[in-house]
Amino acid sequence: MPREIIVTGIHLHANAAPCFHHCRYCQLKSYRLRPAPLERFVALVERFIEWRNDGHEDFEIAPWYGNSHDYSSATTKALRELEKKLGWKSRVVLLGGVAHRPRQEMKQWLLERRDLGIDTVVATFSGYGARHDHWNNMAGNYQFQLDALHLATELGLKLQERILLIRDSVPSLDELLDDLDRIPAASRERWALPLFYSGVARGLEEQRLTEEEIDSLPARLKNCLRDDRPNWRSEKKWIEHVLQSPDEEAEPMAISLPLDEQSLDWAEARSCDQIITELEARWRAAHLVAPSRKELCEGYGDIANDRLYFNVQQMEKAWFDRYKKDNICRFDINATKFA
Ligand code: SF4
Repeated sequence: MPREIIVTGIHLHANAAPCFHHCRYCQLKSYRLRPAPLERFVALVERFIEWRNDGHEDFEIAPWYGNSHDYSSATTKALRELEKKLGWKSRVVLLGGVAHRPRQEMKQWLLERRDLGIDTVVATFSGYGARHDHWNNMAGNYQFQLDALHLATELGLKLQERILLIRDSVPSLDELLDDLDRIPAASRERWALPLFYSGVARGLEEQRLTEEEIDSLPARLKNCLRDDRPNWRSEKKWIEHVLQSPDEEAEPMAISLPLDEQSLDWAEARSCDQIITELEARWRAAHLVAPSRKELCEGYGDIANDRLYFNVQQMEKAWFDRYKKDNICRFDINATKFA
């Protein structure tokens, strides 16, 4: 049955700020910078916000400027203004991809962001000490992030601590939790979650935990599993779930417009309606030819795999990768969620 889609939003994504790390579990396919002048990026997003406020209130506008939050203060300020106009509640800065700085410089960096209204510092850990540094692919990043979280606490910022569950690192996570617990944070969130199935992390399936392994984690770690844990399923269970689901209905999804100088030229020559109409037609045509979820599941699901995936979209990407090995894709992959 052909795939139908319902377009619910647009992702306006530039890769215009460098990421100083090269994590082995990165969700991106490429770290390549694609210059996108900030003023033009902001102007396009503002145009979409006005369009949304003029009768398209349910349409999601999701801008993303860079591979990391290592922006100048001026860029951070401009992006914060956009977030305010979008009505975003979260006011976070990610430490992932941020260049290591000496303590005093880092303090200044955090203070500037606090002054711009950022209230939460997010750090992702993929193990304790050298285990994290290995997966993060950067010597000293574990200590850098830990120090930054201590500093953030001293400055009255909230913490969000994310823990990636990677098989090789699990035995080290008790020591990570000890280190995190020693930070006297007044306000913190902590989540542990399985690997994403996207970007370079697609090659790490042997590091993905099984259902049994997740269920036998130490209680201390189990208490940190992200709130959507009840929805995580092994591939075996995703196959049962998909095959038992009613025939596929139109799938809601956001279309994506990767932004660089060339695509900005294209977008600037069009109204928001024209941009959406043209992209939607492209996405719709690609999805009509792409194999359906059930076809992917029946043809490429591995019933023997009991590793966990946290949603069906992640699972489907794995099925699609197996499909791609055996088939020539006669549709525009870049106009699908499999890109
Ligand atoms: S910091 Fe983020 S964007 Fe950069 S390599 Fe790591 S996961 Fe990828």
